[in-house]
Amino acid sequence: MVSKVTIAPQGPEFSQMIQGYWRLAEWGMTPQERLTFLKQHIELGVTTVDHADIYGGYECEQLFGEALKLDPCVRDQIEIVTKCDINLCVDKFPQRKVNHYDTSAAHIYQSVNNSLERLAVEQIDVLLIHRPDALMDADEVAEAFAELRKVGKVKHFGVSNFSPRQFELLQSRVSQPLVTNQVEINPLNFDVVHDGTLDQMQMLRTLPMAWSCLGGGSIFSGDTEQATRVRDVLEAIRAEIGASSIDQVIYAWVRRLPSNPLPIIGSGKIERVKSAVESLQFELTREQWYRVWVASKGHGVP
Ligand code: NAP
Repeated sequence: MVSKVTIAPQGPEFSQMIQGYWRLAEWGMTPQERLTFLKQHIELGVTTVDHADIYGGYECEQLFGEALKLDPCVRDQIEIVTKCDINLCVDKFPQRKVNHYDTSAAHIYQSVNNSLERLAVEQIDVLLIHRPDALMDADEVAEAFAELRKVGKVKHFGVSNFSPRQFELLQSRVSQPLVTNQVEINPLNFDVVHDGTLDQMQMLRTLPMAWSCLGGGSIFSGDTEQATRVRDVLEAIRAEIGASSIDQVIYAWVRRLPSNPLPIIGSGKIERVKSAVESLQFELTREQWYRVWVASKGHGVP
């Protein structure tokens, strides 16, 4: 069973593993099947769900909301994360000429109102700025956050894909602690281990959320030399620790980091979610962790 953890000094509490809903529109589920899937992962203790306004071309929040409307009480059993600031050129926005970022207060308000309506909820637990915006005015974002908190639409705020300096800049203007930085961590790409991002999280005792732990599936299917080397080592470690599949080794590898990342599960198959949850029983040794590092880099440590 997955337990709850306090992700930042002043909260909130999240489940140790999180369910991602980026791919929900691809799962081809009826509203009832979506509700069943949601209840099944809640049953496993995975109570935190990760969304973004843009997922599924602005469709996924709505699909989730339709399921929630079938049994509104379920809202009280989950923590909802969603994001804003990416503006996509899709059919519903014909006036946009290029994908871009927008952290203006007006856009943040609009995006939150849309998310609340689509998700069919009164409040978002954590709102993240999805990607760093070169034109971000930190004072303006801080004001928008304060207003959204005051009117009760959002409880907590955080960021995603921010560098340590970008995190510091925004934190210098926002009065509440930013509660997470959601970043990519997997054996094929772990730049955040070395660029100060996870050091900053550890320093602040703020837990990062880890996206695409399985490399979006490419760890299983990738045919590059790097992917092949990594798969071989993961398979060897799987046999050593008695795990049932290499995804369990990967989740254990991500969680071995001292900043205690919270893996976001990307699969819509409950069996794979169960397998991810079962990985909590495994802890890698330092040497096992570094064998994956070496396989990924293609050379030994300096
Ligand atoms: P992931 O776990 O790396 O990839 C999930 C994909 O891998 C799914 O297509 C899944 O297919 C496939 N997969 C899982 N187990 C497999 C196996 N044993 N064999 C073959 N394929 C397998 O996660 P992700 O979906 O890329 O990302 C997870 C979540 O992170 C997203 O839902 C989203 O919430 C978040 N995210 C955030 C950002 C950001 O910028 N903040 C970016 C990307 C993602 P099945 O569905 O068939 O199992």
